[in-house]
Amino acid sequence: MLPPIKGFFIDIDGVLILEKQPIPGARDAIDFLKREEIPFMLLTNTTRRSRSSLYTNLQRMGFPITMDQIYSAPFAASLWLKSKGVSSIHLYLRGDAYREFSEFRITTNKPEYIVIGDVGEDLTYDNLNQAFRLIMGGAKMLALQKNRYWQRGDGLAIDAGGIVAALEYATRKRAYVIGKPSLNFFQHAIRQMGLPPENIAMIGDDMEADIKGAARAGMQTIAVQTGKFQKKKLPRKSKLPHYLLSSIADLPRWYRKNWM
Ligand SMILES: [Mg+2]
Repeated sequence: MLPPIKGFFIDIDGVLILEKQPIPGARDAIDFLKREEIPFMLLTNTTRRSRSSLYTNLQRMGFPITMDQIYSAPFAASLWLKSKGVSSIHLYLRGDAYREFSEFRITTNKPEYIVIGDVGEDLTYDNLNQAFRLIMGGAKMLALQKNRYWQRGDGLAIDAGGIVAALEYATRKRAYVIGKPSLNFFQHAIRQMGLPPENIAMIGDDMEADIKGAARAGMQTIAVQTGKFQKKKLPRKSKLPHYLLSSIADLPRWYRKNWM
């Protein structure tokens, strides 16, 4: 018997939202957690939005959350860089995630770190080569995440991981990865929640970033079969995920049955 689950970490893309729309039943599941006072945080590798823009967006869709409940890769990166005393950086990001880095000097003149997220359609040979040159000139590489791909309306889409890997290959340097599945990311969120990791379950649609990462941090794991989840990718002999739900919509019923 696994330890009781008393709190949840929940991925956003592919679990609560798909292509800018709430997944059916997702709002009710979050309502349920709030009503029952079961602690939860939203852990996302999304690098296209600042925390405040994620918050506004989720609020507008009717998710009853607070901004403190959102822990994102750009936000975690800014905390991490501050803790290292870094002052100058350059950003390779799309969207308004740059807002998390307002306390840093953004420069292409010998930055201490370059921060790489999902640049999406902004990717060009020139900006990739600029990043390459900055690293060759001494900048360290901070990857907001190293996801291979994500699920978009028209199909799978290459994510930041491939770009980071290209830069690692060309420069023979390794990036420090800040988002899921990094242990550091989960441990910070665990401290915030204040529960022992074995009493927390991570709900996600990504076997590597969400499920394996959370398991390594000592948590229980729940895969949902929405978003980028692909059943054929479940390793046959693996004990992961600990639980498999068809969607987050099933969470209230499942939780009541097992833990209430
Ligand atoms: Mg996801």
